Amino acid sequence: MSVPPSLSLASAREAARPLTILYRGPLASCDYDCGYCPFAKRRDSRARLTADRRALTRFAGWIAAAPERISVLFTPWGEALVRPWYRRTLAELTHLPNVDRVAVQTNLGARPSWTEAADLRRLALWGTYHPDQVPYERFLGRCRELRARGVRFAVGIVGLPEHLAAARRLRGDLPAEVYLWVNAAEGRTYTDAEAAAWTDLDPHFGFSRHAHVSAGAACRTGDTVVSVDGDGVVRRCHFVPEVLGNLYDGSFRAALGRRPCPRPLCDCHIGYVHMDALPLYDVFAGGILERIPAGYGTGPHPAGGAPRPTGAGPETA
Ligand code: SF4
Ligand code: SF4
Repeated sequence: MSVPPSLSLASAREAARPLTILYRGPLASCDYDCGYCPFAKRRDSRARLTADRRALTRFAGWIAAAPERISVLFTPWGEALVRPWYRRTLAELTHLPNVDRVAVQTNLGARPSWTEAADLRRLALWGTYHPDQVPYERFLGRCRELRARGVRFAVGIVGLPEHLAAARRLRGDLPAEVYLWVNAAEGRTYTDAEAAAWTDLDPHFGFSRHAHVSAGAACRTGDTVVSVDGDGVVRRCHFVPEVLGNLYDGSFRAALGRRPCPRPLCDCHIGYVHMDALPLYDVFAGGILERIPAGYGTGPHPAGGAPRPTGAGPETA
């Protein structure tokens, strides 16, 4: 989008359509060792970490100058918050005038004190509990500290049978305002009885239980939502390889628009939440990126008030 000279950047931002970005840089290492994850205990070389830090700095600089209002969800392959450049950059992004939301997927292993530097009206954490990687009391303590600090967050768990007891315990110990989501385990089918047990914990488990048929379906990605990698390559989502353009030369903007999904199935929440046929922009109104349904949520309501489903197209409430 070009900025007419008669408009200030601030006015242009109000006029431009908001953009939601799913960012994933080169980082692909983690301090945990989950059996269901290819990035478990993987280490990044020094060169890769340097490249990741530089890529993040460049991305943050682009956001600061962007002529759109921006919401961003960081979806690292591994764990980002053990790296100081993510903690620092996320906090800084929350203070930019054109940023509505900064959310990150994390194992919540890092101490939450870094959030003191953030504007908590715009920060949100998507936490995942991995019961065989962290003592229960430590994870629960993290949740309690985040709540005491007024940080907006939700937590979740992979719906494996061996996780059920820990998930029940966590649900029982967390206040009702903290949403606990359950992801269907990859490749697993659930009997109705099994699904009912998980639905007792997460009333929205039904959306995760089965992959969604998406071939030819309308989806907001590629229009108001895009995926960006460390080189600034823009795709519609993390699951469709076709390149729309680049963030840093602005070429992606000419490619933004509605187009049907080319994949047969969409089975990940960060993708199917944007499908028009699903009611998830209503279910998660005000918390689409961080996976917090309307009516749940610790901390201040982001952006200081009314739910604002960022990235919402004109067809959404
Ligand atoms: S915490 Fe997340 S990134 Fe790390 S090993 Fe477990 S699933 Fe993978
Ligand atoms: S439905 Fe899923 S896979 Fe298809 S374009 Fe949307 S997010 Fe991508």
